[in-house]
Amino acid sequence: MKLTIVWLYGTKMNIYGDRGNVIVLQQRARWRGIDAEVIEVGIGDAIPHDADVFFFGGGQDQEQVAVSKDLRGAKGKAIKAAVEDGAALLSVCGGYQLLGHEYRPHASDVLPGIGLFDMVSTAGPERFIGNVVIDSQWGEVVGFENHSGLTTLAPGQRPMGRVRIGRGNNGNDGSEGAIHKHAVGCYLHGSILPKNPRLADWLISAGLRRKHPDVQLQLLDDRFEQLAHASAVDRASKSR
Ligand code: GLN
Repeated sequence: MKLTIVWLYGTKMNIYGDRGNVIVLQQRARWRGIDAEVIEVGIGDAIPHDADVFFFGGGQDQEQVAVSKDLRGAKGKAIKAAVEDGAALLSVCGGYQLLGHEYRPHASDVLPGIGLFDMVSTAGPERFIGNVVIDSQWGEVVGFENHSGLTTLAPGQRPMGRVRIGRGNNGNDGSEGAIHKHAVGCYLHGSILPKNPRLADWLISAGLRRKHPDVQLQLLDDRFEQLAHASAVDRASKSR
């Protein structure tokens, strides 16, 4: 069995440990004997047709300008088509913002997004920085946020979860992130997957299911992941 992981803009959009998510997706597949390959897709590169899982990390406003330009047209369409067809996707912060309809940074023109998530983002007056805990379909999820962008979900757009500790999408409506089919967007750096193995396995299963509908992932011994999760939640509850 093979899993193709497509890492979008790994050199430009990779901050606060985002690369760790790619390592986790690959390693947790390999621990189950699955042949997991990572393909990096940068500016000017085409989207591989056999992508099972996409990862799209965060980045500063100036990086998002070039990436937004590159996503316009065929590339954005290819990512949306793969997700509509069942591919899994995890996007964080700056990458997440460019999967909405648009992102308005402080100091440059509006950056069009690909409209995978029904939402818009605008840079706000304050940076939201700190540990975050949310409640979600994967239970308690913990991560780290650092963004000025404020995201507003359109009515009917499902959030990833509800904020328990932290600011989330906009520090106002209690929502964090967005979900569309097997695509997840969030403001959670850290990296998020090492401390939240249920979400990691959900992405791997969803990515495999297109070709292997009956796949059931064997359980792993996640003692260290759970210890890391508990210590991060503890730190979050003491820090905000
Ligand atoms: N530049 C965006 C913002 O400030 C995203 C930042 C990030 O990816 N951490 O909101």
